[in-house]
Amino acid sequence: MELKHLFTDKIRELSDKVPFISPESIERELGTKFLLRVGANESNFGASPNVVLAMQNAVKRIHQYSDPEAVELRELLGEKFGMNLKSIALGSGIDDLLGLFVRLFVGSREKVVTSLGCYPTFNYHVNGYGGDLHMVPYVCDKEDLLGLADVANSENAKMVYLVNPDNPMGTWHEKEALAEFVNKIPPTCILLIDEAYADFAPVNALLNPKKTPENVIHLRTFSKAYGMAGARIGYALCHEDICLGLDKIRNHFGVNRIAQAGAIATFEDEFYVNEVLKEVAQGKKFYENLAHDLGFSVVKSATNFIAMDMGSKERAKELSLELVKRRVFVRMPNVSPLDRCIRITIGPKDERYKVAEAIRNSMSGIL
Ligand SMILES: *Cc1c(COP(=O)(O)O)cnc(C)c1O
Repeated sequence: MELKHLFTDKIRELSDKVPFISPESIERELGTKFLLRVGANESNFGASPNVVLAMQNAVKRIHQYSDPEAVELRELLGEKFGMNLKSIALGSGIDDLLGLFVRLFVGSREKVVTSLGCYPTFNYHVNGYGGDLHMVPYVCDKEDLLGLADVANSENAKMVYLVNPDNPMGTWHEKEALAEFVNKIPPTCILLIDEAYADFAPVNALLNPKKTPENVIHLRTFSKAYGMAGARIGYALCHEDICLGLDKIRNHFGVNRIAQAGAIATFEDEFYVNEVLKEVAQGKKFYENLAHDLGFSVVKSATNFIAMDMGSKERAKELSLELVKRRVFVRMPNVSPLDRCIRITIGPKDERYKVAEAIRNSMSGIL
């Protein structure tokens, strides 16, 4: 007997392909380690030294479970956003929360709307829980708000997923357009706005989570600007009834005490993150100039990465292979026409110089 016949119907219907290829698995295949890792938007500035220290101290009590309600951290977040801690839910990263919200709201065969080619982890959860995905193509490298709202209405969708600022393109929508979009979505449809890059975004690219309607959920993370991707901690800002729902299904101790201690310490360390944000802004200019020097362009970005527009899928693919040969980890979008770009995470200056050198050296083999 094949064991996979024991899987649930929903799982058996899924393709056998494991959807997510990690840099570690590429390293194992190559038989060598990457020298530069600029493909997953991790912050190569690292977490702040104070945050690292707080996490080291937290290890001393690692034999104890964490506070499953994470009250100290939720209070700090509540102050930051002017919201009650009952409206703040923690998860082990946005990725975890995406799965929990799908599980909370999307029943088997219920309709879910997302953009074709955007951050894929959401789709894995929808597939895993048996929802029915509808994909809306990008328009001018942006997620198509009108298209998403149209499909949400025509399909009477249960959930819409929007990444703003977007991954993989780095583009964003202004808050007036977002507010209009929110109004067009049926009130019975949950809108998940993935704001993983909120810290890098101009203020007019974000809705005030305190003021959005009760069907809207905002997702944030300590993984990107705060440099804590490996700690796995993110949060949702949403109506308190939604948080109560999550409490019924979430992994009680899923946010470990080291992650909580690190996140708490970030609140006394805004200076560090502001410095990171300034460096990222400079790095953006650096890569823009590099692209122009080479005869290409970059898509305007409100994130910690840039999508470098290589003009064709073939050229983007060749460049990414050349970079991998030089042990530089980058990723590229996998859907046309986004796949004419390669995505590069913006890190510290010395890293940027090395990435630029690798790109320049790669170009000779390509054009
Ligand atoms: C990086 C990223 C995530 C992952 O966030 P975690 O909090 O580390 O799970 C989620 N969504 C988008 C759009 C991302 O780019």
